[in-house]
Amino acid sequence: MSRELVGIGVSPGVAWAPAVIMRMDFPEVPDRSIRPEEVEAEVHRLREAVQVIVRDLEELGERVRQRAGEEESRIFDAQTLIAQDLEVLGSVEQLIRNNYFSAETAYEFKALELRALWAASGSAHLRERLADLHAIQMRMLSRLLGRDDAALWSVPEGEHMVVVAHELSPGLTVQLDREHVVGLVSEEGTRTAHAAILAHSLGIPAVMGAVGALEHIPAGAMVLLDGQTGRIIVEPTREELEDAKVRRTRRHRLDFQLEGTLDQPPVTPDGREIVLMGNVDLPDEIEPAVRHGARGVGLLRTEFLVTGRAVLPTEDEQAAYFGRVARAFPGEAIIIRSFDLGGDKFPAAFKAQQEANPFLGWRSIRVCLDHPELFRPQLRAILRAAADRDLQLMLPLVTRVDEVTRSIEMMAEEAAALRAAGVRAAASVPVGVMIETPAAVVIADKLAERSAFFSVGSNDLTQYTMAVDRGNARLAERFTPHHPAIVRQLAQVLAAGQRAGIPVSVCGEMASEPLSVLLLLGLGYDRLSVAPPALPLVKWVVRQVPLPVARAAAEAALDASGPDEVNRLLREAGGRCLDLRLLDL
Ligand code: PEP
Ligand code: MG
Repeated sequence: MSRELVGIGVSPGVAWAPAVIMRMDFPEVPDRSIRPEEVEAEVHRLREAVQVIVRDLEELGERVRQRAGEEESRIFDAQTLIAQDLEVLGSVEQLIRNNYFSAETAYEFKALELRALWAASGSAHLRERLADLHAIQMRMLSRLLGRDDAALWSVPEGEHMVVVAHELSPGLTVQLDREHVVGLVSEEGTRTAHAAILAHSLGIPAVMGAVGALEHIPAGAMVLLDGQTGRIIVEPTREELEDAKVRRTRRHRLDFQLEGTLDQPPVTPDGREIVLMGNVDLPDEIEPAVRHGARGVGLLRTEFLVTGRAVLPTEDEQAAYFGRVARAFPGEAIIIRSFDLGGDKFPAAFKAQQEANPFLGWRSIRVCLDHPELFRPQLRAILRAAADRDLQLMLPLVTRVDEVTRSIEMMAEEAAALRAAGVRAAASVPVGVMIETPAAVVIADKLAERSAFFSVGSNDLTQYTMAVDRGNARLAERFTPHHPAIVRQLAQVLAAGQRAGIPVSVCGEMASEPLSVLLLLGLGYDRLSVAPPALPLVKWVVRQVPLPVARAAAEAALDASGPDEVNRLLREAGGRCLDLRLLDL
């Protein structure tokens, strides 16, 4: 058993707490029957488990309601209803009484029956409830079997934990109780995996790609992790913990220093103003984005409102959410990305189709255009919320001009329908394109004729250019946005946008990484949309980097033959104007 592991630091910060192992599989239920005289005790055990779970769900729902709002907390209401369903519990009790099943065997039996029934049901509502049933089944079985991950679902106030998993899905990461989960470790995943982006946005230190974590980290063991260096220590010594505390204090001091510059404008030493917007994935991030001075939202991800949940939000819910975001940034634009579902981001209602290559599959704008009943309510919600605010629509994963023209047509149709119905709404909203495929880069001139703006999704652009799965830990070293192929495409997109006179920004993770920011400034980008916790750091970089230094580095990077050379050029340029030791904390 190894005491030290190294993975990929995906969300900075130092954290330590006992490990809770999260398993995504259903617990194996041993075949156990009971004796007739044990029936009452077994029924009691079942009822007690239900009580605990309902109480946990109510508490969790309330905490989420207070922190993130009504929409986010609804999932817990739906789950509470299933957990308390008298008909279900009645059948489970009958199985215990009549068949002498153990409580867990009986519950599993009933849950399997329900799953089969609901999955085959013609009712969309029941099919959508499957994810909730799945969650409740996990909780019930974990509790009845005394599995250690039962602790995940009911943590006493004030206690902390580091969650260790094979793989963290975005849906799961969204649902983690952020007050208790102080760190994340997973065997799979990389810096731009969606779960990593969420951890970063939420400010939870995280290490992914930690191969062998489940083998080497026993449940309950104290785990120390550094989300910057990717280092993990199991059962750290007192000295190691002291050292971690010192590093954490240093980091807090840097954060404090950076926070102190919040009222200063993001202007380079030579006077070029850079527009820094925020990426908002979840309602919780509105507040930090505002506090860190974001000039509006350059990427409002909408799919994290639905991944890990059973149902899609209604038009009214979406309109309310968009309005809420817009009110938080008076006078600034909010760029709403249409549902970017697919790959690792699917709500349960859409999970039915398995694909061999989901990242090359039916996803994103393709899903929206194929499913008008999904896309049109979102378009209407945007139009309604845009009645008196500057809201804009951004289309992800575009590869063809007709995807843009069809979306604009649908938007116009919905605007006409709203007008005819006398609903207060904008006549139209600007429609822009995310540049995140090489196809979009190559036809950027054509796309620019139809687009109000471009925003480069450097995460997917890197994935699709390098043919490297962005979530695959084994390929993490090959996933490099500093490859000259990416640098050149960044330059091409900017040039195409400038020729057409439309704004061009970057909203992928590059816009949140100090040395990538230097590169982007050098290439001529002056609009960045950044993960809210990274806004102070990015502003600090902007304020330190003289444009001639950045331009020279970018110029050389365009002519470099590989990513190592680009990295060296950026480190050298950074070393001239930034205290890189601070960044390597
Ligand atoms: C991107 O691909 O760079 C991007 C911003 O979109 P997402 O990370 O949500 O795929
Ligand atoms: Mg993307």
